[in-house]
Amino acid sequence: MTFATISRLLLDGARITGDLGPQPVLIESGRVAAIGAEATRRDRELPAPRLDLSGYVLLPAAAEPHAHLDKALLADRTTNPAGDLLGAIAATRAAYATMTTDDVLRRARRALCIAVTRGFTAVRTHVSCEEGIGLEAVRALVALRDASRQTVDLQVIAMAGFPLTGREGSENRRILDAALDAGADGVGGAPALDNRPHEAVATLVRVAAERALVVDLHLDETTDPHSLTVCRFVDEVERHELAGRATASHCVSLGQLEPHAAATIAKRLATAGIAVVTLPQTNLYLQGRDAQTCVPRALTAVSALRRTGVPVAAGGDNWRDPFNPVARIDPFETASLLVSAAHLTLPDAYEAVSSVARRVMGLPPVGLSPGAVADLLAVRAVDLADAVSHAGEDRVVLRRGRVVARTRVTSELAPEI
Ligand SMILES: [Zn+2]
Repeated sequence: MTFATISRLLLDGARITGDLGPQPVLIESGRVAAIGAEATRRDRELPAPRLDLSGYVLLPAAAEPHAHLDKALLADRTTNPAGDLLGAIAATRAAYATMTTDDVLRRARRALCIAVTRGFTAVRTHVSCEEGIGLEAVRALVALRDASRQTVDLQVIAMAGFPLTGREGSENRRILDAALDAGADGVGGAPALDNRPHEAVATLVRVAAERALVVDLHLDETTDPHSLTVCRFVDEVERHELAGRATASHCVSLGQLEPHAAATIAKRLATAGIAVVTLPQTNLYLQGRDAQTCVPRALTAVSALRRTGVPVAAGGDNWRDPFNPVARIDPFETASLLVSAAHLTLPDAYEAVSSVARRVMGLPPVGLSPGAVADLLAVRAVDLADAVSHAGEDRVVLRRGRVVARTRVTSELAPEI
């Protein structure tokens, strides 16, 4: 397999979801030029190099709208006996002394390489910047973003530390400003950790507006239905006219409300132009640990949000760290959980980790229509259900028409089976 850039390529033999049989796909200059009979006709006129994808399903590449590459693969050096959110935060802060720029860069690059081989060509990572770690992680992720542009769109969200408000928050506010000066792409944070959560929401949205950046906050990551800082977020996003540039991540408490209350807030989010990202792996792991029975399902109000037109994307959040020790770094794992735990259809679930995720990240669409940017994921499977269920490792990933990752799997079986 060569990873060289070639201006034309014919993807031959892959099935396209929704179609009955294999369809050739002609790629020219990084875009899908033609599909099916038209691709065959144009290839006959001017033959292109072929990539045999017989036995594969071809999908739009996946996008990860919410990761923490600075914390990725920390699980073997941290412990979180309680298994909850505060335990995970404490465990991570205890590891800050070891999280130098070099250390963060090494783990983040390894996690990003896994992500690309699994089919992600866009990743938004939140990166902690606060007392105890300063700019070590932000510097690593900005460098990784700049070095990997040919392979993946990496977005760096500066995740402000707490305390953030009042006199006691002055140092963390200074570090946030420095992280944005150092090249971070957006403003983030978890306002619930501040003594004045609503004021923290207002501060973070204001900073984003002043710098003309996107804002993506960890909001209401709790099953307590009384925690609804998302409403203050709506107010501030409207005040600063950040429609289309604001994301509410988690919003777990919204999923615990009675339907009318959830629908009312969902309508406000839709009107304000705010997207929501749900993180099933991590929130199923972290929340609900106090309950012995009737354990709450810690997802946001996915169906109420979708019904009102709020874009709902899904992400993996934490990749083998104190917040989630068992992540696979795989869009099919997230999509599978959306089917099981959020009751989405298979096509809707895959859209949540691909086209909707890209939209939430402010990226142009990719996919399988003439003219679209050819960021594609081929996976050995017979259809989308097989791809999501089996989640085979045998994949080919294309970025702007160029193969950027290929994984081959060989299985051997005893002859009597
Ligand atoms: Zn997160």
